[in-house]
Amino acid sequence: MSTLRFFAVKESLKRKPLKIHEPKRRSEVFGANVFNENAMRQYLTKEALSSIMEAITKGTKIDRVLADHISTGMKEWAISKGATHYTHWFQPLTGATAEKHDAFFETIGDGMAIEKFGGSQLVQQEPDASSFPHGGIRNTFEARGYTAWDPTSPAFVYGTTLCIPTVFVSYTGEALDYKTPLLRALHAVDKAAVAVCKYFDKNVKKVSASLGWEQEYFLIDTALATSRPDIVLTGRTLLGHSPAKGQQLDDHYFGSIPSRAMSYMRDLENECMLLGIPVKTRHNEVAPNQFELAPIFEEANLAVDHNSLLMDVMQKVAKRHNFSVLMHEKPFAGVNGSGKHNNWSLSTDTGINLLSPGKTPMSNLQFLTFFINTIKAVQTHEELLRAAIASASNDHRLGANEAPPAIISVFIGAQLTKVLEELETVTKGKLSPQEKTDLKLNVVGKIPEILLDNTDRNRTSPFAFTGNKFEFRAVGSKANCANPMTVLNTIVAKQLIDFKEEVDVLIDKKSMKKDDAIFNVLREYIKTSKDILFEGNGYSEAWEKEAKKRGLSNNKTTPEALKVKLSKSSIELFENLGVMNEVESKARYEIEMEEYILRVQIESRVIGDIARNHVVPTAVRYQNILIENVKGLKTIYGDEFRGLAKEQLTIIEQISKHIEAINSLVTKMIEDRKSLNSQNSIEKKANGYCNKVKPLFDDIRYHCDKLELMIDDELWPLTKYRELLFTK
Ligand code: ADP
Ligand code: MG
Repeated sequence: MSTLRFFAVKESLKRKPLKIHEPKRRSEVFGANVFNENAMRQYLTKEALSSIMEAITKGTKIDRVLADHISTGMKEWAISKGATHYTHWFQPLTGATAEKHDAFFETIGDGMAIEKFGGSQLVQQEPDASSFPHGGIRNTFEARGYTAWDPTSPAFVYGTTLCIPTVFVSYTGEALDYKTPLLRALHAVDKAAVAVCKYFDKNVKKVSASLGWEQEYFLIDTALATSRPDIVLTGRTLLGHSPAKGQQLDDHYFGSIPSRAMSYMRDLENECMLLGIPVKTRHNEVAPNQFELAPIFEEANLAVDHNSLLMDVMQKVAKRHNFSVLMHEKPFAGVNGSGKHNNWSLSTDTGINLLSPGKTPMSNLQFLTFFINTIKAVQTHEELLRAAIASASNDHRLGANEAPPAIISVFIGAQLTKVLEELETVTKGKLSPQEKTDLKLNVVGKIPEILLDNTDRNRTSPFAFTGNKFEFRAVGSKANCANPMTVLNTIVAKQLIDFKEEVDVLIDKKSMKKDDAIFNVLREYIKTSKDILFEGNGYSEAWEKEAKKRGLSNNKTTPEALKVKLSKSSIELFENLGVMNEVESKARYEIEMEEYILRVQIESRVIGDIARNHVVPTAVRYQNILIENVKGLKTIYGDEFRGLAKEQLTIIEQISKHIEAINSLVTKMIEDRKSLNSQNSIEKKANGYCNKVKPLFDDIRYHCDKLELMIDDELWPLTKYRELLFTK
């Protein structure tokens, strides 16, 4: 065994679970490090508190003087929690969170100092932002970017730093982060949904989108993970033969959690409790050493912040336990990859989940309104939803028969399918009780009972209705949820606006009764949204064919999937709803294409290096041992050695063939890269990396993995799959 591999395996075998200090009751420490309403009550004046609460619920601006009060209270609270520094915490388009710490400490002359944190420091900062992705929005001569406080997501203390969630925008006001468009989309869906809710309840003043994510990840011993240059540099293995045992026995899924992983999870959960992240569920996932963590759902903006924070905290806590968390969508070939289901719904300030069927026909009409409009929104904008989850790493998952396919469709279950079918056949178009044929009322009235014993599950669907929410399952494990949430809420907002217009026309111009008008429009939607509904096996070839007939997109790669972002209708959609202007939309497209190119480029360099510097030299070394052996046999047995050395000679030849193949493939890959790098068109470059460079990975890997099987285990330099996946 190579020295590095030997020590890595030895280290990993020595590890014991860490002892965790735990609170008696988690509820007691929940949110202890969050500047929540409770903390605000203690540290803020009444006036300051009500201004901040109003900003949260109504989006009103906070007065400058009050901002000073708030910052002072926040500082006192943070210091009481051990903070010495503060930072504006934001989510630039790198995918990671960003922070730049400043001390509260300030000198006031005469050798004296105080702890200071003013309103202006709370409200706005100007980090040097020239190195964050901006897609051409900020020319280098105007590198200024601003972070501005988002009072709807509470500040928190992590370690010794007060973190203030902020948006990140350019000098000219364009969004440079994930949060800004999300907040705008949430505002758009709030407005559009409230207007529709008024048909049913005049008291509704606010509708919030909710998000409950489910985070999947792999936990690999740090010594093992860091012994693999591909994991260190790309987050995934680029080589490695499948072990004799993988996940075929299904003995890991929902099994008892290994003690080291359990100790990590408990430690992580304790941190989450302090930070107010309401994690609730943990279990083993399908692949060996793969796990999942899920919280109680929250308002979408907060949930997105919590997921971003969680991904950071997961890595930090893992260090204490000598684990590396692999968040990549496909760290290992041959076993399942990781996703992040986004459970989504809309709820009113009167406490109604709009995607939960109610007790009366009327409340069910409201449910159907939001249910059918969501389906219609997905039908119209399926390609945008696909684009929202596109990334180099998620391409490995979508369509690879373990995750939802690259085709977006909606699963609603047999019962609701029947309900929609029945509603569609009601031709008279009346829903009002005076109508004698009250079939539709019956149908509508029965929905909650139907759903109670609706156990329909379809794991192959990318967008499934699960009783009282939709579950967007195609989101990648590494992704920031803001992107898919921005798109989903925007398309639903747009759909609800269109819906309201159509209903109002029927009421005003055709003098239809309100519920009849609603029902009529919905019935038309049922007819026109059928193509997006699919209940069968999303992994099957038959579905690919069928989806094509239906005109659904099947964009298997990121460069293909992102194209739609530049279409006139997409740009107008985001522009008209105030979510992103044209400059912002185009910038995001460029950033994502660029990121795609860079990711594939890095992987290409790494696989080339490993193949040439690790695999080929090892193969040569082993081949030399065999050659020595053959020579020895010849010395002893003279001309009869051929019969005795038959196998050795075959292996020697095979090794040469693999070496030759690897070398010529790597050379070709480098040449392809060179010619692509001189391309100016971002599309041509991305397509080249996608269709020319990336396919070579598989070929190179094939030969390297064959060598792994042939070569003496003692010599093999790379930590093997069986060691990475089965060390607990
Ligand atoms: P599973 O999908 O594994 O069957 P659940 O249905 O219990 O599990 O819920 C999965 C996730 O859905 C959880 O994170 C939960 O918080 C979230 N969830 C439940 N209700 C809602 C809702 N109304 N809006 C958003 N997320 C929700
Ligand atoms: Mg789920």
